[in-house]
Amino acid sequence: MIRQSSRFAVMALALVAGSSAHAAPKSNPNEAATARHFAALIAGAEPKTAELTLFFSQMPKGGDLHHHYSGAIYAEQFISWVDKQGYCINKQSYRIETDKSVVAAERAKAAADRACLSGADTVADDGVYRELLQRWSSKDFYNHGALQAPPDRQFFSTFGYFNPVADSNTNEGLLTLKQRAIEENVSYIETVFKLAPFTPDPAFDTLALKPGMDDGALDAALRAALATLDKDAAFNAQIKAYVDGVQADSAQVDDARFTMRYQPYVLRFFSPSMVFSQMVASFKAARQSPLIVGVNIVGQESANVSMRDYALHMKMFRFLKTVYPEVKLSLHAGELALGDVPPEGLRFHIDQALNVAGASRIGHGLDLAHETNAPAIIKAMRERDVPVEINLTSNGFISGIKEGNHPLAIYRKYKVPYVIATDDAGVTRHTLAQEYVLFASRYKPGYAEVKKAAYNSLRYAFLAEQDKQRLKADLDQRFATFESRIAALDAAAAR
Ligand SMILES: [Zn+2]
Repeated sequence: MIRQSSRFAVMALALVAGSSAHAAPKSNPNEAATARHFAALIAGAEPKTAELTLFFSQMPKGGDLHHHYSGAIYAEQFISWVDKQGYCINKQSYRIETDKSVVAAERAKAAADRACLSGADTVADDGVYRELLQRWSSKDFYNHGALQAPPDRQFFSTFGYFNPVADSNTNEGLLTLKQRAIEENVSYIETVFKLAPFTPDPAFDTLALKPGMDDGALDAALRAALATLDKDAAFNAQIKAYVDGVQADSAQVDDARFTMRYQPYVLRFFSPSMVFSQMVASFKAARQSPLIVGVNIVGQESANVSMRDYALHMKMFRFLKTVYPEVKLSLHAGELALGDVPPEGLRFHIDQALNVAGASRIGHGLDLAHETNAPAIIKAMRERDVPVEINLTSNGFISGIKEGNHPLAIYRKYKVPYVIATDDAGVTRHTLAQEYVLFASRYKPGYAEVKKAAYNSLRYAFLAEQDKQRLKADLDQRFATFESRIAALDAAAAR
């Protein structure tokens, strides 16, 4: 009798809900079926990798918020750009030759005598091609026992190989990334795009590195440097060209299915004046274009200059945030593993990115467990709603941090918001779907948490609010379609 009346109450509620055009259904049978399907995939000791791959390839993933443009392009496409640019590839060093007179001299030789090959000839020579893929990406790194570079050096050195063509054919590159995103049900990418313009100033370098400089003196020096840069016509023209370049490069990228936004980046191992001018250029560019939605700092964090100047960089950001408070920061911070640097170096990077620079998102946040103020960092990120961008493939490859040693366990436990992202999917040759496969198989989250991770990638995007709402409504639709497909797949299997 009680059961009957409660069922009646549920029916009545459903009728009330149905009478309102905006009310969501109380329970969604397809969502429940999808949750059961997913729970079965992560049950047991052995991950059902193939089935999880199918699941996450189909699942809408919202956005990819930690994404490097040049690191996302595959070596295969860079090779095609070598020919488009009229360069060749040295078959000993695997570096791109950009000197046109050298290229012409090589082309004049008989094919068998050439030391520098066209992209097409590189692809045609199986041995050279295979070796090139191994140098320009992480391909085959774990497949053979030959002597090889340490993985972090292997990773960071790839950029030196393809850099001569990385900034060419950008619109084609972006359209490739867009098409790839659409095919794996990703609707938004926020890419760390191109190096911001800079201008060196040796006098500023000496001043900024003066031992014992207090914060007041530093701020005065930064204010003076900013005033000089504000008046530098050539520098401002470079910034305008950068902004115009983003506009031109992004032609035909945005449409109803896909949206891309851009972050200029600063290289942390440059000199202080180069870093500061890059920051200034990035903040100015963000103010000039709605396509440029934030600023990032990148480069190997364990490099000598990166470590020496880390605290200085965070203070530079703090100063510029007072001038450009509306510009958001997503900062690579704490991408360090035990042993990369002496332990003192692992104590404060996330802390300062958060509390000195004022980052709205933390990239990687790997050294959390080693940081002096870890409990306060956790609390601040949770309370201020600052997410960490998790890049499992990249962290595993570059830093050797994975599974129980990855701080995602801590971020999840203490309810720090997080997003799942790719980092450099062209260099490490994976997809956003694969990141979710690793996430699910290693940490066994429930379906609700997986879904929340996907929505988080829009929630924490540096998008304009109306774009965010549009993409969120689109994600609702995509999830409804996905869940109906998974429910139908299971119904078919049960027949
Ligand atoms: Zn990154």
